[in-house]
Amino acid sequence: MSRPVGILALQGAYQKHVDSLSRLGMTSQLIRKPIELDDCSALILPGGESTTISLLIQEYGFYDAIRSFSADHPVMGVCAGLILMAEKVDDDRVTPLALMPFKATRNVYGRQVHSFSADIKPAFTETGFRAQFIRAPGIENISENIEILATHEDKAVMVASGKHIAMSFHPELSDSTAIHEYWLNR
Ligand code: GLN
Repeated sequence: MSRPVGILALQGAYQKHVDSLSRLGMTSQLIRKPIELDDCSALILPGGESTTISLLIQEYGFYDAIRSFSADHPVMGVCAGLILMAEKVDDDRVTPLALMPFKATRNVYGRQVHSFSADIKPAFTETGFRAQFIRAPGIENISENIEILATHEDKAVMVASGKHIAMSFHPELSDSTAIHEYWLNR
């Protein structure tokens, strides 16, 4: 049996990724200690509160562990997870892991009350995808090494480089598993 996909479970919206992965026939493991990464084939950094998750990453000794895991395993960042994957963040309270060369801007898509959904059309699907944005971050200063996989109102909302992908919206809140599947097959 293949090794599970790890989901960082320090804070935030990690649980629904378990369902998305199981609909794809994949097992997952909630990660609360760096050593647990050793069993995993890939890692999801879920949505939540990036300032809190960043503090917990430092406190639990995940900073170097995730960076070295990412050298040879795929990482997917969702919303706050995207903020953590960035090289730079517009908020000093977040120490980003710098896994992808772009700058994340927090809460550009409004406050919690302004959450919304929108149809996007990722480059790798024939059909559209209903994306849920919850106080979503923007993606700026995108290096030329990055592929833009989807846009919303002419702004990048989903990007990839190498094995890694990051998105402003929450794919685990959709009925579709297309994005998890694309990432794992990448
Ligand atoms: N607004 C949150 C942050 O900046 C991210 C929200 C989310 O992950 N849905 O950390």
